[in-house]
Amino acid sequence: MAAFDFSRLIAAAADTIAAHAEELTALDQAIGDGDHGLNMKRGFEAVRAEADAFSAKPLPEALKAVGTKLVMTVGGASGPLFGTLFMALGKDLPVAPDRNGLAVALGKAIEAVAARGKSQVGQKTMLDVLRPVYEALAQGKTATEIVDAADRAAEATVPMKALRGRASFLGERSIGHMDAGARSTALLVRAVAEAIEGI
Ligand code: ADP
Ligand code: MG
Repeated sequence: MAAFDFSRLIAAAADTIAAHAEELTALDQAIGDGDHGLNMKRGFEAVRAEADAFSAKPLPEALKAVGTKLVMTVGGASGPLFGTLFMALGKDLPVAPDRNGLAVALGKAIEAVAARGKSQVGQKTMLDVLRPVYEALAQGKTATEIVDAADRAAEATVPMKALRGRASFLGERSIGHMDAGARSTALLVRAVAEAIEGI
């Protein structure tokens, strides 16, 4: 993995969330309560505000700090779940991870999110993007292939019926719309891959 500046990663994540906030809100309006874009933007802008302090920390501590900040600021169902994702990544990542270390830590972090959300793959949530991303990473796919896998996985939530989160209250009527958290996860995957690999 190329060396990277953590503050660049934070900027990339916050930029993509800000640029797509209205889209995320629209997705959440269709089958939720329409706050996902604002929730994520609030959280990632709060992280951006601390980018210098966070970037001065070793990578595991920096990720834990990001996760803690997201839990405190995103709100909704997704705040604790994205927060758990980053905190768990920080717990399991070595200071200078290679690709394999990243895959192992992501696998464990996904398990932590699933435990926190009492959810699993196939229920039309962010997990439906995280899992294929983990698999592509573990299989040694290129950054471009991983990003494509994330985009395809977000698209694949459209025909799914939601079984977790607010969208599940709609039952069959949740079919035909992309899950907002799946979309935001795919956006973050692209931003991180581009920042790390320069694709
Ligand atoms: P809220 O649903 O409280 O309004 P958000 O709109 O910010 O929160 O986030 C909704 C997203 O959170 C969903 O699109 C879905 O991807 C994710 N989500 C909700 N509940 C769960 C869960 N139990 N497990 C995994 N992801 C979930
Ligand atoms: Mg919502």
